[in-house]
Amino acid sequence: MAGVCLGYDAEFYLSQHDRFLHDFAHRSNRMQTITDGEPPRIFLNILRIITSWDTLYYRLRSCFDGYASKVYPAPPPSTKTDGPAVYDFHKQVVNITRTSKDEMTVSVLNHDTSEISNIEADLVIGADGPDSFVRSKYLPNVKRKYVGYIAWRGTVPESEVSMSTRAIFTRSVSLQLLHLQHCIMYTIPGPSGSLEPGERVFNFLWYTNESEEALEQIMMDEFDSHRHHNIVPAGHVRKDLWKARVDAGKRMPLAAPFLEILVKIQRPFIQVVTEFCSPHAAFEEGRVLLIGDALSLYRPHTAFSGTQAAFDALKVEQYVDRKISCQEWEENVLSYVIFLR
Ligand SMILES: Cc1cc2nc3c(=O)[nH]c(=O)nc-3n(C[C@H](O)[C@H](O)[C@H](O)COP(=O)(O)OP(=O)(O)OC[C@H]3O[C@@H](n4cnc5c(N)ncnc54)[C@H](O)[C@@H]3O)c2cc1C
Repeated sequence: MAGVCLGYDAEFYLSQHDRFLHDFAHRSNRMQTITDGEPPRIFLNILRIITSWDTLYYRLRSCFDGYASKVYPAPPPSTKTDGPAVYDFHKQVVNITRTSKDEMTVSVLNHDTSEISNIEADLVIGADGPDSFVRSKYLPNVKRKYVGYIAWRGTVPESEVSMSTRAIFTRSVSLQLLHLQHCIMYTIPGPSGSLEPGERVFNFLWYTNESEEALEQIMMDEFDSHRHHNIVPAGHVRKDLWKARVDAGKRMPLAAPFLEILVKIQRPFIQVVTEFCSPHAAFEEGRVLLIGDALSLYRPHTAFSGTQAAFDALKVEQYVDRKISCQEWEENVLSYVIFLR
């Protein structure tokens, strides 16, 4: 479970397409720094609307194809104008070819049967994330680049945290600035999406600079020793490395509220910070588009990626409705990338 901070366009997207009415995000109304032994210092009064990935994912799924989850067991009713929506699992796009002036053929590998089938498409939207196949086909030289630092991450249920630490963290996004590194903490909904005090979760990140050589060890899986590329998933971080990280936090020491959370993390994970920016977003005369993380990858502490994906999706809607041309669509999404950078 990890947090996601909604930005302006993500909120606008939800105002157009979210069919639930109840709130699903925690509201922090200020940013503060914390130094050990000193009271927190508020440096910015700003509303940050933060939810969890699980909550956002299940909410969108529920609206998209009526998927009933633990978080949203009762999907909203469909309306007369809804078209069919299919969320296909275990399928991977392995090729895209232009078969006629107006049509693309998408080859899809079914991982359950190992069969490849073809789908004819008027429009292919490459929303296939930072390791996008679509981007690799059209822009093979645009690749994720390591920027020199990583995030040690984890979450702790609010119920396991002392009242004094809760009081410091719940209303704010909190930072501890250290020499060439920093920690950040914010509150996200609980596993079932709850925003009730005591049922929420504290989300912790500690950014540290690491050389490419050091990553060989840091990214090694605790159980089978294979080298993860960009994320060591929760529960797979090497135990000796995590112990060393916690010991470093005690030695420094981190400010007491941060340290309390750090030592209580049960299933840490590691995220390597990478980025890239594509110079083009539309191909095959507008029949293939790149959006979201497939188009451009931001560093996580900017918290802009989700809002970029929402902006791009809203622009696709305008393009499909013929309110903007392909050229305007591409200019819009590429300008947005530059604007947020
Ligand atoms: C740990 C973590 C924390 C984050 N925190 C924040 C945050 O606080 N705020 C924020 O704004 N953003 C955050 N992000 C970024 C955010 O997750 C992405 O910006 C967002 O998910 C982008 O959506 P997307 O649809 O473009 O790509 P993804 O969410 O990556 O979705 C891509 C999808 O395409 C599928 N796919 C990939 N290749 C193929 C293929 N060949 N064929 C078929 N399907 C394929 C994948 O399985 C996946 O389902 C975070 C990311 C991580 C990893």
